[in-house]
Amino acid sequence: MEEDPLAYHKSVLKEEMLARRLRQAGDLRRVSQTREQLINEFASRPSPFSPVVRQIPRPRPEDFYRPCYLPLAQLKKIFLKDLKFETHHRGSFLLLRVFCQPFRKAAVMAAVEDETGDVDRVALFHTKEALRAFEVVPEGSVVSVKEPFYHLEEDGRYVLRVDHPSDMVVLDQHHKLCPEQWQNHEEMRLTALEWKHEGDKAFVREEYLEAHRCNTRGLARLDPDVDEGVRDLMRDLYHHRSSSNLRLHRYDATIPDAFLSTSNGRDDVSRSSDIEAWFRRGLANYQLCHYADALKAFERMLMLAPSSLKGREELKKTKTRLLEQQQGTYNFAEVIDEVTKNGFFADRASFISKTEVRQTQDRGRGLFASQDIRMGDLILCEKAFMAAHPDNRTPESTLPVWLNSVQKVIDNPSQSKDLLGLYAGEPRTSLVSAPMVDGSPVVDTFKVSRLLDLNGFSFVVGRESQAYGTSAMMTKTSPKSTGLWIRISNANHACLSNAVRSFIGDLIVLRAAKDIKSGEEITISYQNPAPLLEDRQKLLFSSWGFRCDCLLCTSEASLGVKMQTLADHVETSMAFMGDRNLNDVLTTDSELVMMAEIVAEDLEEVYADNLMHRLPCLGMADVWQWLSQTYCQTRNRIQLKRCATKILESYGYWITVQDSSITIDCAHGIPAVGVVEAMMYLSCVAEGEQKVELSQEFKTWARKVYEIVNGNMMGFELKY
Ligand SMILES: [Zn+2]
Repeated sequence: MEEDPLAYHKSVLKEEMLARRLRQAGDLRRVSQTREQLINEFASRPSPFSPVVRQIPRPRPEDFYRPCYLPLAQLKKIFLKDLKFETHHRGSFLLLRVFCQPFRKAAVMAAVEDETGDVDRVALFHTKEALRAFEVVPEGSVVSVKEPFYHLEEDGRYVLRVDHPSDMVVLDQHHKLCPEQWQNHEEMRLTALEWKHEGDKAFVREEYLEAHRCNTRGLARLDPDVDEGVRDLMRDLYHHRSSSNLRLHRYDATIPDAFLSTSNGRDDVSRSSDIEAWFRRGLANYQLCHYADALKAFERMLMLAPSSLKGREELKKTKTRLLEQQQGTYNFAEVIDEVTKNGFFADRASFISKTEVRQTQDRGRGLFASQDIRMGDLILCEKAFMAAHPDNRTPESTLPVWLNSVQKVIDNPSQSKDLLGLYAGEPRTSLVSAPMVDGSPVVDTFKVSRLLDLNGFSFVVGRESQAYGTSAMMTKTSPKSTGLWIRISNANHACLSNAVRSFIGDLIVLRAAKDIKSGEEITISYQNPAPLLEDRQKLLFSSWGFRCDCLLCTSEASLGVKMQTLADHVETSMAFMGDRNLNDVLTTDSELVMMAEIVAEDLEEVYADNLMHRLPCLGMADVWQWLSQTYCQTRNRIQLKRCATKILESYGYWITVQDSSITIDCAHGIPAVGVVEAMMYLSCVAEGEQKVELSQEFKTWARKVYEIVNGNMMGFELKY
């Protein structure tokens, strides 16, 4: 980290700011700016087309507050003069008009006035990033801010701060709250047809939200119980609005609009509009992962237009998704190819049907097997609810995952149940969707931030085609992608887990580390298990707030593994590993080898109880690996065989060789790179001993464990 020369001054300013907030909290607002000052300030705003710089800091828990869950009709109107500093005005709302072109910095900033002519600024945080400021709150629009929060910002000025998008409502000119003085009489005289034209113009300008508003206003001007001519216009407006909805990623709303735009007419015009409507229903259902409905829609479309290429293409894609969803048949090589070309997003369906979510006895909800699953089998493959990858513009990938998740459920309330059902640090009630108030879903942005902290996964993309490129292992310095997966978030932790996760683009892949019986709980390790119990517990507690009581942890705590001795020995053994690049080690230095043997022997002694119970002894894996490598280089077959077997035992794999067949007891095995390597050493040794079948069998095991660790077979041949 570069040191900031101004850090000290900044921290002093921050202290002063906090003191000022505390001192002034509850005081009545004092007018600090005139309309002219604001007009000048907003005239020199940044261009609405300049790229947005993500400057929003993640909120601190002490700044969290809840959104307004009441409709406007139940709130009391107040004016800007009634505002108090640092106060959430619960039970009230402000009615305001935007009087300048707004701009976007960290938030969308708008200059507003109330009916008395008093002026101030609103800062709208967490609005959809793809929208420009003037699309979010057009100049001249009338808005209500629910339960306003008047807050001192970092720049030393007070502002009306809106953190939950549903706390601000843009009102239609015809809304009964809209005062006459603010009504735009020219707009109010527009007919439905004229609104349709306005909508078309906005659509061409790629202002889809505005196009949507125009179509909605047009529809409001129409009386449905009228002649066929008006019905055509109505269908037309729905048709256009479904198109805007699709562009705005509002798939929930696209479907009914497309439905209402179909005419089942026989003339060419209504036919072509119906074809489009079925196509949009297909696309929207596809995006919502409702593949069966998407399939029906594309089939209906193709009945009207059998030769449509785009229709056939979408139908084919949808059929593949259905197979993935129902049977878990993925072509992982193809997926890897796709994510590498496609910015790390995989257009794939989730396969989760081998699992179910149930209450555990003592750990809240858990993930359970709904059928027998064999070691190495795919348990699930899940597409991220949301994922983001670091780039120059956004080095911190949790921020976009947070903001985009909020936006996704605002745009598609049907998906809110998935997101809001995740554990957010408080006891979960029954699964709830975001409530609809004044026509919009209320989504608590801070709750989403909290559940992202508890459920988000960090991973590394971009190495999918390399060996172990998709495994969960990463270095401290690798740039981390962040993702949120719904089903797998229910899996509880165990260092000695029965399932292993890996990542391909924005897919998470879970494989069975051992045979799992139907009804058994599926566990994953939230971290790569550290050799020392204390280190494991510390990390788990600091990140997720619990201590692990898996078999490995309880055994190490009670079986008398001498912690301090173990720590010392592990440290010594680490010294042999150096930076893990063993190729330049002096292999002829027999004294060094002797020392390593002694360290390994000491470790075995400390781990005597673990070994007796065939539990992993992670602290000794490294030194056995070092020795194996050394004996491999000196071609000492007998020693290599011994040490490779010890590596396997370190990870909880116990082999019995009888003639050319192997039995492996891996009831407590932890699949790891070291296991694959040890199997390969043993395969080599067997080959050298002319035991072809045995060598093959070890290689088969190596492949099996590789697939579990890496999620798929890519990279194996390259490496071994
Ligand atoms: Zn544990």
